[in-house]
Amino acid sequence: MTALAVQNELNVYQSADARFETAAQKLGLEEGLYRFLKFPNKEITVYIPVMLDNGHLEVFIGYRVHHSIVRGPGKGGIRFAPNVTLDEVRALASWMTWKCAVVNIPFGGAKGGVICDPGKLSNGELERITRRYTAELIEWFGPERDVPAPDLGTNEQTMAWIMDTYSMHMRHTTTAVVTGKPIDLGGSRGRHEATGRGVLFNCDRALAKFRMMHVSTRVIVQGFGNVGSMSAKLLFEAGYKIVGVADIHGALYNEHGFDIPKLFDWTVTQRKPLPDFPDGGEKMSANEILFQPADIVIPAAVENQITSENAHRLQTRILCEGANGPTTSLADDIVDRKGIFVIPDILANAGGVTVSYFEWVQDRQGFFWTEKEVNDRLKNVIENSFEEVVRYAEKHKVNNRVAAYMLAIDRVAYALKERGIYA
Ligand code: NAD
Repeated sequence: MTALAVQNELNVYQSADARFETAAQKLGLEEGLYRFLKFPNKEITVYIPVMLDNGHLEVFIGYRVHHSIVRGPGKGGIRFAPNVTLDEVRALASWMTWKCAVVNIPFGGAKGGVICDPGKLSNGELERITRRYTAELIEWFGPERDVPAPDLGTNEQTMAWIMDTYSMHMRHTTTAVVTGKPIDLGGSRGRHEATGRGVLFNCDRALAKFRMMHVSTRVIVQGFGNVGSMSAKLLFEAGYKIVGVADIHGALYNEHGFDIPKLFDWTVTQRKPLPDFPDGGEKMSANEILFQPADIVIPAAVENQITSENAHRLQTRILCEGANGPTTSLADDIVDRKGIFVIPDILANAGGVTVSYFEWVQDRQGFFWTEKEVNDRLKNVIENSFEEVVRYAEKHKVNNRVAAYMLAIDRVAYALKERGIYA
C-alpha cells in the first residue's frame, strides 16, 4: 500500500463515510435525503485561551460538530487528546447519530474535541480549558440542543465543570445539559459501568445465538479505561474467561485466564502499569493482542486497530467493537470473508449513550431510579436492538454492520420526511 492509501484508510471520516455510502446505496436512499444525511448539520472551531500554571498563555483548539438533530438534541462525548482532528470529530458525530437511532433513543448525533494532552496538564489547567471551551459553546449546548458526555481523556469531573459553567451562565442549575456526571450532581446510577454492561449484554446475546457457554468462552479486551476495564470486569463476573488484556503500555495474554479483580487492584488501586502485572502471561504489544486465539475479541481503546493490513490475522469467532471505529472500512470485507460475527461499534458500545439518555430523563424529571431499574432498562434496550440488527441482517442478506447502518439511516430518514424541510 502507498503512504497515501494508508493515510486514507486511517482517516476515520472516510471510514464512516464509506459505511454510510454502502448502507445508503443498499437502502436506495433518495438523492436529497442522501445529501442531507451525509454531511454534518453544523460544525465550529473554537480557540481557547488558557493561563497555564507556569504563567504562560496557551491557546488550545477545540471543535464541536452537530451531525444531526433530526431525532432530538445532539448527543455525544467530548474528547481531550493530542491528536484530535476535525475529521475525527465529524466521524464520531455521525456515529452518534446512527448509534442513537440503532437503539432508538430520541437524540441526534454530536461530538466534540480539544487538542490537548490531559496527562501533561494539571487539574487546574484542565478545569480552565473545560470552562472556557464551554463558555465559547454556550449557545450550542443545552438540554434541548446538545448534551455532551465523557469520551477519551474526559470524565465525570469534566462533566461537573461543564454543568457548573453552563449553569452559572443560565443563572440556574441545569443538570440535564451533560450526562456522565457524578451521581450527587444529577448523574445516573449505572452510567459509569453502562458501556461495559452494554458490551456484556451484546456478548450474552451472541453466545445464546451460537449456543456457547460462558465458562469456555475466551475473551480478549484491548484498552483498560472506562469501556475496557468495565467490560472485562462484568464479563469476568458473568463467568467468561478473560485471556487477553491491554492498555496503552502493552498487553498480556494468558490462555488460563486472568483474575480481573486482582488486575483491577494492580492497575486502578495501585496505579501500576498493566503489562507489569505479576500474575500475568505473555507480554506483547497492545495491537498484537487482538490477533491471539479467542472466541470474542473486544477492541475497547482507540480507532484503526484492525486494518486491511492485519485483519487476516484475526483468530476469533466474534468481534465486539467496544471502541468507536476500531476497524477500518477497508478491513470490513476481510473480516466478513473470515466469517467473523461482528457486533458493530454503533450497537456494541451503545450502552453508554442509552444510560446517558436515562440520566437526561431522570434530570428532567428530578426523579432518580435505582441501579437495578437502570440496568434492567438497559438490558431491554440492548437485547431488543441486538435482535433487530441480527434479524435485519438475515432478512436483507447483509452483514451486521451494514444492517445496523441501514436500520439507523432508515429511522433518521423517516423522521426527516415526517418533519419536512423548513425553508
Ligand atoms: P479511556 O480514556 O477511559 O480509556 C482508553 C484506554 O485505552 C486506556 O486504557 C488507554 O491506556 C488505552 N489506550 C489508549 N491508546 C491505546 C493504544 N494505542 N493501544 C491500546 N490501548 C490504548 O476511554 P474510554 O472512555 O474507555 O473509551 C474507549 C473507546 O470507547 C473510545 O473509542 C471511545 O470513543 C469509545 N466509547 C466510550 C464510551 C464511554 O462511555 N466512555 C461510550 C461509547 C464509546
